Amino acid sequence: MRVVVIGAGLAGLLAAQQLHNNGHEVVVLDKGKSPGGRLATRRIGDATLDHGAQFFTVREPEFEPHVQQWIHAGVVREWCKGFSNQDGHPRYIGASGMNGIAKHLAQGIDVRCNTFVFEVTRNEDTSWSTKIDDGTVYQSDALIVTCPLPQAYSLLITAHVEIPEALFQCAYDRTLGLLAVLDGESAVPAPGGIQNPDESLQFVADNYMKGISHIPALTLHFSPAFSEQHWDDEPHALHQLLIKHAQPFLGHARIVESQVKKWRFATPRTPWPQRIWQHDSLVIAGDAMSGPKVEGAALSGLAAAIAISELQN
Ligand SMILES: Cc1cc2nc3c(=O)[nH]c(=O)nc-3n(C[C@H](O)[C@H](O)[C@H](O)COP(=O)(O)OP(=O)(O)OC[C@H]3O[C@@H](n4cnc5c(N)ncnc54)[C@H](O)[C@@H]3O)c2cc1C
Repeated sequence: MRVVVIGAGLAGLLAAQQLHNNGHEVVVLDKGKSPGGRLATRRIGDATLDHGAQFFTVREPEFEPHVQQWIHAGVVREWCKGFSNQDGHPRYIGASGMNGIAKHLAQGIDVRCNTFVFEVTRNEDTSWSTKIDDGTVYQSDALIVTCPLPQAYSLLITAHVEIPEALFQCAYDRTLGLLAVLDGESAVPAPGGIQNPDESLQFVADNYMKGISHIPALTLHFSPAFSEQHWDDEPHALHQLLIKHAQPFLGHARIVESQVKKWRFATPRTPWPQRIWQHDSLVIAGDAMSGPKVEGAALSGLAAAIAISELQN
């Protein structure tokens, strides 16, 4: 089958990899500059910073072999077994940044970045036409849509498929982030991560202690309430405010360069109870379907690949 996958985040890439390995002809389309979506790693000078997902855990047996394969390939390694509270569950990270997992999965697959999909239509013979911003139309026998649900909704509005309203009512929390390069070691304790240090912050990571950055660099992710409250602040004032909130984690170091990052669709609030939503050859997948985390996205992508493969049986 010819399969189009919209979204080169973890869900889309895992689905594409499985289908490609099963002999299907797969094309992955993503509007971003490179694959990964919320598995995002940015370089600022000599610093490397994860600015989306910081780490992940494994709870379900279906996910375990994939993680073991990534560890074997040197793409993933264990970071720690908890932060202030060592609960014994391994926290895994991309060995050179979380985005390395996406790059690894994209190898050998036809992934087309800088490709914004703006319309999907269902043809009379139940095949699909996916139109991108330059007017190119991709024809496929099956379609997997993995972008955040509000973005999926705007694409599928022209598809003439009855999709449950409750699916698209899923709201997302926003996340404001600060990426800060330091001139010395931070005050973040080993192993380099602090969960919920105060009401305004959700996570603070030291990318140097994590082992992905050559020089000290912090990622600060702000809480949903704080992010909502300050989302539309004037950019310079917002930047200064986020820098102020970083002060307790600097120790004797100073911030030498910093950037603000805004995640509009960071975390789905009420995930759909099944791993995918399917109507014939259309599958909607992603972390909104299976739990708002890396593992949820992976499980949903794997379920999407199985659903499409079973169409032939
Ligand atoms: C700030 C932050 C911190 C996080 N921290 C953690 C963590 O520590 N641990 C954890 O387990 N999880 C964490 N997560 C969640 C985790 O990153 C996500 O659950 C997971 O990466 C989602 O993968 P996905 O494939 O479902 O979606 P995405 O990664 O969002 O992929 C969807 C893709 O669709 C593309 N797209 C959207 N619209 C279009 C269009 N019209 N045309 C073409 N392409 C389109 C996007 O560019 C994107 O690449 C965090 C997320 C954020 C934002």
